[in-house]
Amino acid sequence: MSSDSEFVQSDNNFVTARQTMIEEQLRQRDIADPRVLDAIGRVPREYFVSPESQRFAYNDSALPIDCHQTISQPYTVAFMCAAAQLTGTETVLEIGTGSGYGAAVLSHLAREVHTVERIPELAIQATERLQRLGYDNVHVYTDDGTLGLPQAAPFDAIIVTAAAEQLPEPYQEQLNEKGRIIIPLGSDSTGQRMYRFTLRNGKLLEEVLGAFVFVPLIGKFGHRPE
Ligand code: SAM
Repeated sequence: MSSDSEFVQSDNNFVTARQTMIEEQLRQRDIADPRVLDAIGRVPREYFVSPESQRFAYNDSALPIDCHQTISQPYTVAFMCAAAQLTGTETVLEIGTGSGYGAAVLSHLAREVHTVERIPELAIQATERLQRLGYDNVHVYTDDGTLGLPQAAPFDAIIVTAAAEQLPEPYQEQLNEKGRIIIPLGSDSTGQRMYRFTLRNGKLLEEVLGAFVFVPLIGKFGHRPE
């Protein structure tokens, strides 16, 4: 990360880029939830990427982070947050912490955010970054997120930022009634679709929300590690 003075110097450019991104990549598409737009506007995405990627931080794309992973495209983060229909009172589980950016956005939308990352190095970096930026309602864990997070359950929403072929079994029992699971499902051959599952009277109601591309969800109830 660059020195503080470099950030102060370039901060205005980032603020302008963030506002342009919200207008052109989110509002002019289909992101209308004012709480989501406000949350995205509060999170300095440039702090969640490497110094080399900072000038691309507000591009309309995913970007590489360490350990061959990615920080999701801003539109995808906004889309998933909007799909979760958060009002500010919820306990949320995010699977796939990556850079910590998605968790930071969620921290403005929910009461408590638990986020699980399988790669220890990324979890450590995200913890440090989120602490430094003062996101004290976000808790980072290193584990296999296909197991959910029984010790912090139940959740009002589970947001999964990597793709599985099927919904991991443990999630349903860790969800509150009317809770939502937002998850990309599918394979490289069939394509991935974003799903929203809503728990009603003990059953999951399924909706398909659109086509997306994600890295694989690797774990006991996901893909096998290579
Ligand atoms: N939300 C992240 C951000 O804002 O930077 C982007 C996440 S990236 C698209 C997907 C992440 O899911 C990767 O960091 C990957 O290591 C992680 N992942 C894959 N399988 C996982 C699992 N079973 N449990 C937890 N994390 C997993």
